[in-house]
Amino acid sequence: MENKDCIFCKIVRGEIPSSNVLDNGKIIAFLDVNPVNKGHVLVVAKEHYETLLDIPDNIIKDMIIAAKKIGKSQRKALKADGFNLGMNNFAAAGQEVFHAHIHVIPRFESDGLKHWPAKKYDEGEMDKVREKIATFL
Ligand code: AMP
Ligand code: ZN
Repeated sequence: MENKDCIFCKIVRGEIPSSNVLDNGKIIAFLDVNPVNKGHVLVVAKEHYETLLDIPDNIIKDMIIAAKKIGKSQRKALKADGFNLGMNNFAAAGQEVFHAHIHVIPRFESDGLKHWPAKKYDEGEMDKVREKIATFL
């Protein structure tokens, strides 16, 4: 279902401008207006799904295939040394636009960006956490 007020649905409908790099049936991909690095692309389903958990498996498969193609192109076209795929799901994870999207961010050896900070597990904690997560899979 489309969402009348959603900014990415408006992009899909052509009501607001976007710099599209790919449009293939169920998926579009366009430049992020506030890129982490220039050439940062967002991959979205044309249908409105809020988070990864709402996206049907066949659609997420197409989105990942598109992201893979885009990453490959960023390496060729922008001479990117690498690329990150990212997806913020739910507000706590930093999601601001509630039309699910995959970020494809070109990365350069010299871009100065850091990896996420890392925490440590207490003794025995890792196995408890493993078991909790495994229970719901
Ligand atoms: P997220 O925090 O994962 O929800 O990211 C939303 C992303 O959408 C941000 O990186 C914004 O810069 C980007 N964004 C918001 N509005 C637009 C727009 N009209 N066109 C392109 N990118 C947008
Ligand atoms: Zn939408």
